[in-house]
Amino acid sequence: MERFSGLSLLRHAFGGHQGWKPFWREPAPKAAYDAVIVGGGGHGIGAAYYLAKEHGLRNIAVLEKGWLGGGNTGRNTTIIRSNYLFPESAALYNHALKLWETLSETLNYNTMYSPRGVLMLAHTVHDVQVFRRHVHANRAAGVDNEWLDAAQCKAFCPPLNISDNIRYPVVGGALQRRGGTARHDAVVWGYARAADAMGVDIIQNCGVTGIRRNAAGAVEGVETERGFIATPKVGVSAAGNTSVVMAMAGLRMPLESYPLQALVSEPVKPDFPCVVMSNTVHAYISQSDKGEMVIGAGTDAYTSYTQRGAMHIASHTLDAICELFPAYRRLRMLRSWGGIVDTTPDRSPIIGKTPVPGLYVNCGWGTGGFKATPGSAHVFAHTIARDEPHPINAPFSLERFRTGRFIDEAAAAAVAH
Ligand SMILES: Cc1cc2nc3c(=O)[nH]c(=O)nc-3n(C[C@H](O)[C@H](O)[C@H](O)COP(=O)(O)OP(=O)(O)OC[C@H]3O[C@@H](n4cnc5c(N)ncnc54)[C@H](O)[C@@H]3O)c2cc1C
Repeated sequence: MERFSGLSLLRHAFGGHQGWKPFWREPAPKAAYDAVIVGGGGHGIGAAYYLAKEHGLRNIAVLEKGWLGGGNTGRNTTIIRSNYLFPESAALYNHALKLWETLSETLNYNTMYSPRGVLMLAHTVHDVQVFRRHVHANRAAGVDNEWLDAAQCKAFCPPLNISDNIRYPVVGGALQRRGGTARHDAVVWGYARAADAMGVDIIQNCGVTGIRRNAAGAVEGVETERGFIATPKVGVSAAGNTSVVMAMAGLRMPLESYPLQALVSEPVKPDFPCVVMSNTVHAYISQSDKGEMVIGAGTDAYTSYTQRGAMHIASHTLDAICELFPAYRRLRMLRSWGGIVDTTPDRSPIIGKTPVPGLYVNCGWGTGGFKATPGSAHVFAHTIARDEPHPINAPFSLERFRTGRFIDEAAAAAVAH
């Protein structure tokens, strides 16, 4: 893998930038692999990277039905934080946050991780109680989080309207300073480049259409749009399409899939120093490096596989943004888009083994899996390679929906769903 540095940039500049190599090969699928990952989003391609790097599995493939990062990884609002309520979640999301902090160096690729602080606004007495509880629980679990009153929120985020004269006045907020954003495409491209260099085959436009099981019920391969591929291990990381893919192996998942949408405005000068989220009025906002205001809306109220959300949801979100940030009232929206998010009954992910030997699943991230990408990929790779969960993802088993050991993070989810 070519090492990126200031020197290499200079060297290529002298060659008129004609010498850059493609980041990954375009191999034809082989007849057999030691393991196959279904889904070329951040979680899937990241898992392939860690399988190759930490577990020595190099004869592996990532099969993606569209293009790399074309699912939710390339559609999300890139908010990263780890201030969830329960210790199991704190361990998982903090594992991810620690990996984010050094990911650019690890991959030798700038993921543009920017710990600019994530401020979650409280508008009601109930919000105050919930967020204060989160602050205490997070601190006890070693996760940074602090309580700010309304004036401190305004000092941290000057465009915020803290007047009493709005429908839901800001009464305070919980701030995680280590939270922030990263560039979504860069994450998937960085992992892909490094995985490809270790021999991982990244195969785009290769949808999986079936999962074949042997007489004993174990996985023996996948049917794809480009033929059958034999493999004893299949890791499914297909986000909003998980139920569809798992049904190919005869498994019914405890998931519902909803459209979730986001919007960006026309670009403006750097003005917004952090990320602000409000669960109560249902809006979250940050500013991209291009200057666009990146705005996240809520999920649609009904299940669907369309990759776009309903107009009234976007309009409701913009009402909330205009009230909280009146300075942005005259901004024009440039584009909006949607993704499909799969949600579990307890709003926590599922990462682990399944009742089918050789079949592993990573799903159920709902509206908030981007932040977990490196941590989730890391523990998913461990689970696939060793056929047993990493201690961090052990509590996030599929089994919990049978035993009732839920990890109920509904109140901590970015968007109520
Ligand atoms: C609008 C929006 C905003 C969001 N904002 C945030 C946020 O701010 N912070 C945050 O943490 N999270 C956010 N999320 C959630 C986050 O994007 C996802 O949880 C995360 O990106 C999931 O990553 P993934 O790699 O699992 O999925 P994806 O990136 O969706 O990858 C799954 C891949 O599987 C492929 N696939 C599906 N079926 C098949 C098949 N049969 N064969 C082969 N390939 C298949 C898909 O094409 C897709 O590329 C948001 C999501 C949306 C939609």
